[in-house]
Amino acid sequence: MTQYPDTFSAFGLPAALLTALAEVGYETPSPIQAECIPILLEGKDLLGEAQTGTGKTAAFALPMLARLDLAQRQPQVLVLTPTRELAIQVAEAFQKYAHCLPGFHVLPIYGGQSMVVQLRGLQRGAHIVVGTPGRVMDHLERKSLQLGQLRAIVLDEADEMLRMGFIDDVEWILEHTPNERQTALFSATMPEQIRRVAHRYLRAPREVKIRAATTTVSSITQRYWSVRGIDKLDALTRILEAENDFDAAIVFVRTKLATEELAQKLEARGYAVAALNGDMTQGLRERVIEQLKNGGLDIVVATDVAARGIDVPRISHVINYDIPYDTEAYVHRIGRTGRAGRSGTAILFVAPREIRMLRAIERATRQTIEPIRLPTRADLADRRIAQFKQQVQEVLAEESLDFFRNVVEQLEDADEIPLQDIAAALAFLAQRERPLQLSVDDYPDEPAHPPAREKPARENRGEILERRRAFSDGKLARYWIGLGRQHGVMPKEIVGALANEGGIEGRSIGQINLFDRFSIVELPANLAAGTLDQLKRIKIRQQALGLRPFVEKDEAHQTPRTRRPGSGQGEAATRKEYGDRPAQGREFKGKKTFAKTFSEPKKRR
Ligand code: ADP
Ligand code: MG
Repeated sequence: MTQYPDTFSAFGLPAALLTALAEVGYETPSPIQAECIPILLEGKDLLGEAQTGTGKTAAFALPMLARLDLAQRQPQVLVLTPTRELAIQVAEAFQKYAHCLPGFHVLPIYGGQSMVVQLRGLQRGAHIVVGTPGRVMDHLERKSLQLGQLRAIVLDEADEMLRMGFIDDVEWILEHTPNERQTALFSATMPEQIRRVAHRYLRAPREVKIRAATTTVSSITQRYWSVRGIDKLDALTRILEAENDFDAAIVFVRTKLATEELAQKLEARGYAVAALNGDMTQGLRERVIEQLKNGGLDIVVATDVAARGIDVPRISHVINYDIPYDTEAYVHRIGRTGRAGRSGTAILFVAPREIRMLRAIERATRQTIEPIRLPTRADLADRRIAQFKQQVQEVLAEESLDFFRNVVEQLEDADEIPLQDIAAALAFLAQRERPLQLSVDDYPDEPAHPPAREKPARENRGEILERRRAFSDGKLARYWIGLGRQHGVMPKEIVGALANEGGIEGRSIGQINLFDRFSIVELPANLAAGTLDQLKRIKIRQQALGLRPFVEKDEAHQTPRTRRPGSGQGEAATRKEYGDRPAQGREFKGKKTFAKTFSEPKKRR
């Protein structure tokens, strides 16, 4: 195995970037980052091949930011991405890493967003522009985008741009940028046509390929849960509660910060859990592992690095809460279970955009990974009732109950309460902290059918023109939605909901502005009454959109917070997905009561 630097500071990145990385909690460079950052820092051209989710964005964003001249306000770096979602996402990533660079500006430009906004942004000046090929060509033709000072161009997801028919546009753009620029091309696969483009436009590129590791892991059952509808934290606790052969688990997340946040939330829900990350001293880490071994802890939430090589035979489950960067990391992770001749279970949480990584993992482990449905409310209730009955029987068999019989008799005699009622009241008291009847609010149903895969808005020249015409013809109108920043909603969720559940084509969804209590979205002006009605009822995070045509007075009493993809709000919103919801009344108050004993999250054997 290649020896990679295991800190970002080893690259000699500016302090401002290292501070930002510490803030986002990246512990070590991923393999693609480890290989690409030094090459790009030297100003060399690069051809990088690695799967989705391996951290390619930071692999180019960090060296680009390191070499930026902040005093120069004309674009120095241009990043081309196949879809507008990606353009926004990449711009957000730049913003996050440049958090400590004063005056830094990154501008996403893509079809579907109002031209006026983009022209204004370009006039104001941006150090880095991230755009879809069509819209970038548009601006180059109008001369609103000037690339005279351009030093580097990055083609992100080149194979996807090829697949979507943008490759001619990309070549056109390459021909209209200064010759002496640095060029980096990233792709998940390297089809012949991409290679051809690379040979033609890259100068003696260094090639980096992160290979998928191949192994077999036969003693481990692998399953995955497709992340949708229900928050990951809730899903995790349901799964933990319903697993039959659960003994102990390692839960993998991507950042140090996430280890702590998730450990805290699980603790609040009654689990014996601790975080394990590279910030902890060696002594502390050893103590955590020791406690996991001897049963003092049942769950450890860890980063890849911190958990490397852990050998604790009682680990029955590995939960991939965040998908790993590469198949090799996955294999390392799940190897923490199924040890010493035992069997183990690995569960992977997969978001729609991570499906490709799932397939790569299947190939690497030479196993199909079966999807699971979350245990339903009824499943959990049945289980709890069965456990409750069993515990009552155990107490009857094992404890001496004379004193308590006496108390019950007093109740029965003095107040003439039938024994059955007394027993029912006691059962009620005993289950309070871990209810036998589960409410829909706490345990919502998983959507029955997976929503149609979120289609990225594709655009081509024709569509751009069509859309531009639509704007100027007034075919698009503004609509009001009763969800805003306060509700933690993200623009991409709104797009996703309108597209998947409302059947509105991604390309006819215009700009989205988030306000505190509501949002404004641009949609076709001529929506049929039926469609409007349907859109009104669509829910995000279990709250109805309440969509209706926008009237000017709506805006009067609130300062607009136009969604600027650079505003860094994506991060906060992402954190929301990890379940910031307070654990309603389910925290244990620390006192040892019967209820607390009963609610022990698992049976020890
Ligand atoms: P790709 O472009 O290869 O699909 P991304 O750049 O989108 O991958 O990164 C995927 C996820 O991994 C993002 O959420 C990103 O914040 C996270 N990530 C990237 N690099 C690191 C790192 N070194 N440590 C922790 N998380 C990282
Ligand atoms: Mg990417």
